[in-house]
Amino acid sequence: MLWTVTTGQPTTPRSHRRAPRRIRRAVLIGVVAAVLAAVVYVAAVVVVPLLRPAGPRPLFQLPVACGETWQLGTYPGHDDYDVDLFPTEGEAWGRPVLASYAGTVTVAGINGSLGGRTPENPNGPRGRGGGYWVKIDHGGKWETQYLHLLEPPLVRVGQRVAQGEQIGRLGSTGNSGAPHLHYEQRRGWEKVESYFDGVPSGITHDDTEYTVRRTSNNCASGQR
Ligand SMILES: [Zn+2]
Repeated sequence: MLWTVTTGQPTTPRSHRRAPRRIRRAVLIGVVAAVLAAVVYVAAVVVVPLLRPAGPRPLFQLPVACGETWQLGTYPGHDDYDVDLFPTEGEAWGRPVLASYAGTVTVAGINGSLGGRTPENPNGPRGRGGGYWVKIDHGGKWETQYLHLLEPPLVRVGQRVAQGEQIGRLGSTGNSGAPHLHYEQRRGWEKVESYFDGVPSGITHDDTEYTVRRTSNNCASGQR
């Protein structure tokens, strides 16, 4: 009979042994260099743009068809500078929503939840937040936002849009009582008073209900 002798000592695999000192030092230098590179990157890409002042206000136009008159308004509890747009004539559902100014789409998706308000079921369950929405970066830290769209936006993230280009259709998704367009202009990630065709909207706070009528001059020939 053959006896197998065991010592009870497991053999240590080579890979579990400590690496030689010079390799450990090289790894440490590599880690330090990577951390320094990350710090420089964050400073250049995040901090410097934050400190840069906003550019001049783009000549934004109403986000609706050229020549149409819409009611712009706000109400208590809305939020300062938020603008709700309703057409003064015709059906609101499905009306084209246009880019106020040329830019690059940074959001095209769902904010909150859609709910179930459609032209066929206008009093369906109310959703949360903005529903289908679009955000456009116009450069110089200027942005516009378009909320409660009826259907998935007609544009995609990263897409360049022209002033007056259709980005969606008016609806009532998200937290919306009736079909309308909720619209915002932002400068440096802060909401500001919306201007259209160089004229201030007068919507600067939500202390009281306020409405004003404006006619769209979003008649650009599609300059990107
Ligand atoms: Zn609103």
